[in-house]
This record gives sequence, C-alpha cells and structure tokens, in this order.
Amino acid sequence: MEGTAAVNLAPGDNSTAALDVERVRRDFPILQETVYDRPLVYFDNAASVQKPRQVIEAMSEAYETYYANVHRGVHHMSQRSTEVFEAGREKVARFLNAPSPDQIVLTRGTTESINLVAASYGRAFLEEGDEVILSVMEHHSNIVPWQLLRDELGIVIKVAPIDDQANFLLDDFAELLSPRTKLVAITHISNALGTVVPIEAVVRLAHEAGAVVLVDGAQAVAHMEIDVQALDVDFYAFSSHKLYGPTGIGGLYGKAELLERMPPYQGGGEMIDVVTFEKTTYKEPPHRFEAGTPAIVEGIGLGAAIDYVSALGRETIAAHESGLTEYAGERLSSVEGLKLHSRAKERASIMAFEMAGAHPHDIGTIVDRAGVAIRAGHHCAQPVMERFGVSATARASFGLYNTREEIDVLVDALGRVKEIFG
Ligand SMILES: *Cc1c(COP(=O)(O)O)cnc(C)c1O
Repeated sequence: MEGTAAVNLAPGDNSTAALDVERVRRDFPILQETVYDRPLVYFDNAASVQKPRQVIEAMSEAYETYYANVHRGVHHMSQRSTEVFEAGREKVARFLNAPSPDQIVLTRGTTESINLVAASYGRAFLEEGDEVILSVMEHHSNIVPWQLLRDELGIVIKVAPIDDQANFLLDDFAELLSPRTKLVAITHISNALGTVVPIEAVVRLAHEAGAVVLVDGAQAVAHMEIDVQALDVDFYAFSSHKLYGPTGIGGLYGKAELLERMPPYQGGGEMIDVVTFEKTTYKEPPHRFEAGTPAIVEGIGLGAAIDYVSALGRETIAAHESGLTEYAGERLSSVEGLKLHSRAKERASIMAFEMAGAHPHDIGTIVDRAGVAIRAGHHCAQPVMERFGVSATARASFGLYNTREEIDVLVDALGRVKEIFG
C-alpha cells in the first residue's frame, strides 16, 4: 500500500519541499475530534503518536480480506498474510538501511528489543565485573533490563552525564570507557528532554574500547533519517507506535555476526527447526528470536506507517518539526515564570518545562481544558528528573501534523496557569 505524498514538490527538488500540514492533518481522523468543545491539540507525541487512515485502513483490509496465521499455512490466506507481514520486515530494513531483512527481529517494541539483547547477548557474552555504560537520560526500559542482568551476573553499570543545559557530555562518556566495558546502551533522542546524542562519535569511541553499542531509537525513528550502517551501531531498537504505526510491534536491528552467535531467549513455535524431546535445533535469525505467533496485523500496519512516513520524507518532516521547535522555544520563553529544561544544542521536538508555583499535573489539567494534550510526570526517566532536582515536568512534544497555531493555543492556556498559580 502506498502512503499519500502530502508534500509540495518543487520540480526536481524534494529535499527542501515544505510539508503541506493541512493536507497531512486530513489523513489523521482523530485530529477532527474535539475535547471540551475545543479542537484537539495533540502534544503528547513522545508518548505515542496518532495514526493516519492509511495505517488504519491497511489493518482493516488485512482483517477483512486476507487474515490468517503466518509462516505455516499452505492455504491462500496464510500465504498472503505471510507475504504482506514479511513485506513489513523488508520495509523496516530499507527504512533503517539494514543490509538485509534477516537482520530485523520483530518484537513488541523498544522495551522487548532491549530485553532481548540483555537476556540473549547479555547472558551469553557478559560476566561478573564487565561494565555496561548507560546515560543519565535513559528511559526506564533501557535501565531496568541491565539492572536485572546486574543482579543475575554481577555486571557493573556506569552512567554517562549531561550538563545543566541537557547536553550529552561526550568527553565524560569517553572517560567511562575501560577495557572492561562490554556494552554501551544509549538513547538516540531523550524522550524526557529531546537531547540528541552524537551516536556516531559514541559508537566510534565504544568500538575503539572493544564494546558493542545498542541504541534506543524509540524517539529517533520518527524524527530523523536513520542509517544503521553509516552509524555502525551493533543493535538499534524501536517501536512502531511512535512511528505512526500500531502498538504491539517494533523491531531490533542487529549486526549479522552478532545475531548469528546469540542464543534464543524465548522458546516456542516459529523459532525452531526440529524438535524432539532429546534435542531441539533452532532457526536462523531473525526467526530464532520470534517465538510464537507474531503481531501479524500490527506488522502489516507498521509497513503501512513506514510507507506513509517515507512518502512524506523524513527530511521534510524534520524540517517542519524543527521549525515548530524553534517557534515553541521562543513562545514558551516569553511565558513568565516558565523554566525550559530542553535546552541542548542538538535537540528534537520535545519541550520539557516547569512553571513557578504550579505542579506539572496542574499544568496538564488546566491546558487539557483548552483541548491541549501534554504529558506531566517523570516520563519513565526518573534518574534524569533527579539530575534536575525535580520529581516531574510538563512536556509538550510535536509530530508531523502539529502547527504553530496549536503552539499559540498552548501558550494562551499557560497564561491561565500563570493567572491561577503565579
Ligand atoms: C517510548 C520509549 C521507550 C519504550 O518504548 P515502548 O514502546 O514502551 O517499548 C524507550 N525509550 C524511549 C526513549 C522511549 O521514548
């Protein structure tokens, strides 16, 4: 299924095309909804993004016209389901510029992808005293799996810092590397702050120290072009639901030589070659890591989401979002008593802030009355909240369908927060 190319293409030039945001918005049925009689302003995109009808329709079409279990049927519907589901895997491979679809393991999402690496690669190749480096900005899903491994194996976790402007400190990271560093697990874009980590430099330094690198790409896939070969990452994890696709599916890219050496971490159907009670042999990657019936229709939806985003062009989306981020930065800093935490030089369209006298939950509740959905809380990243000495922040995060007018609605609503609490 082809996504709709809602861009203004100047002849012979698609790199600087502006996003036709009004046309894009018509692709998202939920954006027609109202909240308390106000048009919905959806700024909770870092938690999950809304879905275009192209994705919704691809999934309905699957259920209505060719749904069956995949990979084992000789009958027509099973073959058709398998074909479209596996086409989704190929689209992921092309989207990340992976050399082969066999290097894409389909999982439930970023969390499961990271747990897979910890449980399979971690248990097989790490031992007591080995070091794993994380950053202070990690989402809980890139902290807890390593703590579970620490409890099991006695590995050591080290934490790379950021400065007060939320910039990643590459030199400090480099100093943490040692001959005992076996793995670096780091986010590409912080969901709590929007900071973009210089992955290429991190990978170069980590490889020089002999460590492999797992990148948490949950935020990055929707906002920037990802080329896993150019980045030279060893593993790259992402979720479909932050990429305009459905929940329940995502992926893990891995270098072939690593995936081939990794043992299975869950057993069941789909992942085996031959089973006897004496001995079972396993399939090659990626199927070795995909026990049980996969999220079939979700995989088909993910393929449709990738078509959609690719047709718009990630550079075009990034340019639109960086315009929004710049505008929001100016408008928000004009709000009296507002303190912006997202101030890194390299950052994506995520704005975390506080307001004097108002708890983030109060901010969230008041702007909700104006139809604006933002998030208030620790954003699944409690250590970085502690880094800034807060227990929670308010966070507005933008996606490809957001507009400057919507930012104005937020800023007006924040004016009311100021009136009440200021
Ligand atoms: C959302 C997110 C995750 C977790 O993704 P799930 O889809 O919940 O598995 C991990 N890391 C970052 C940076 C995220 O934004």
